[in-house]
Amino acid sequence: MTLAQPPHKKAKALRPGAPRPAKELCSECGLCDTYYIHYVKEACAFLNQQFPTLEAQTHGRSRDVDSSDDRYFGVHQRMMAARKQQPIEGAQWTGIVSTIAIEMLNRGLVEGVVCVQNSKSDRFQPIPVVARTPEEILAARVNKPTLSPNLSVLEEVERSGMKRLLVIGVGCQIQALRAVEKQLGLEKLYVLGTPCVDNVTREGLQKFLETTSRSPDTVVHYEFMQDFRVHFKHSDGSTETVPFFGLKTNQLKDVFAPSCMSCFDYVNGLADLVVGYMGAPFGWQWIVVRNDLGQEMLETVMDQLDTQPVDSQGDRHQAVQQSIPAYDKAVTLPMWAAKLMGVVIERIGPKGLEYARFSIDSHFTRNYLYMRRNHGDRLDDHVPEFAKRIVAQYQLPKE
Ligand code: FAD
Ligand code: SF4
Repeated sequence: MTLAQPPHKKAKALRPGAPRPAKELCSECGLCDTYYIHYVKEACAFLNQQFPTLEAQTHGRSRDVDSSDDRYFGVHQRMMAARKQQPIEGAQWTGIVSTIAIEMLNRGLVEGVVCVQNSKSDRFQPIPVVARTPEEILAARVNKPTLSPNLSVLEEVERSGMKRLLVIGVGCQIQALRAVEKQLGLEKLYVLGTPCVDNVTREGLQKFLETTSRSPDTVVHYEFMQDFRVHFKHSDGSTETVPFFGLKTNQLKDVFAPSCMSCFDYVNGLADLVVGYMGAPFGWQWIVVRNDLGQEMLETVMDQLDTQPVDSQGDRHQAVQQSIPAYDKAVTLPMWAAKLMGVVIERIGPKGLEYARFSIDSHFTRNYLYMRRNHGDRLDDHVPEFAKRIVAQYQLPKE
């Protein structure tokens, strides 16, 4: 007896450039580039907010919004700061993400890894791939700080007959992946996530580089760091830093993708393991183990890491409250004032987990105001309860 064809196989991927179901809020996660578009109404992070259901499906429980750590960082078993004893040259930080993926492949735990390489002509143009060798995984190291259609390779995964898969991705991609997970025909799926915020289209990235860096064409890597500065690395090896408070926000206000202005999944709540930096001391990476699969992944690299417990210092509330109007109205400080503010905040300001809370609070309040202004009719359904509780700590401008 032959099994009936699953319904998605009759669906058709959208053509490149065709309007997407989530319209301007689409983050180009890639789902609609495949026949899994059949599930888009339920699966798309911007059409159907369903954190509690997907958290319970993935971690066995949804996050406890009454617990401060759960509310901010999602369901987790443990957190730590870590760095590779021997960093991978050219990785975004020390290369923990690439190392875990390589170990998972070498140990036969998975047959392939969904990750993002770049095009030959443009180091920031994302090309999602299903990597089957350590070299292909290494070629995907370093952030492509642009919207990336990672899920566009899902049809290829199914065609390949792979049964054990690791997917590396950011929150919106992972929300859609979790929603279609059961349709993929896999025996085992591991998800290694990174936090993500303020992403941009390729054109938006160009504008950001041109308004912020002294030499936009030679930037090979950048990060918004815990010292309240953007750190640019140039192809000649030099580093350039620009204080957050000196960013030309009046020119940048339309740069961030609308999807990222309406996202409340900064910490990638549905991944098994999350590797970022914002809850760790400067120079270290921040690890959040959400469930047993996440612990299994982390164990593959523990002997290659230095680790220390996470810490928390300072009080973010005043800094967040004061920055709400500036963020919302896109005010730019003169450079001398921006540098001074950066130095003062760095000396006395939030550190470790408190810095992570500072960044979450600042982005969630800004995004809440963006949704209220542009998609007021969807505000209540789209903003998850944990984010409403976080935003409620602050006084927002009147509607
Ligand atoms: P590497 O070993 O260099 O590997 C990087 C991995 O990221 C690769 O496997 C690649 O496939 C994947 N990747 C690259 N670009 C994308 C993309 N556009 N979409 C999906 N996957 C991608 N961490 C924080 O703590 N706070 C933040 O605000 C924050 N913002 C981020 C924004 C973006 C757009 C991205 C992609 C990541 C962000 N991170 C953030 C995570 C952080 O910058 C590092 O990616 C993470 O700490 C892993 O570093 P690594 O050296 O271990 O990674
Ligand atoms: Fe489709 Fe993903 Fe865009 Fe939603 S975000 S419309 S699922 S491509």
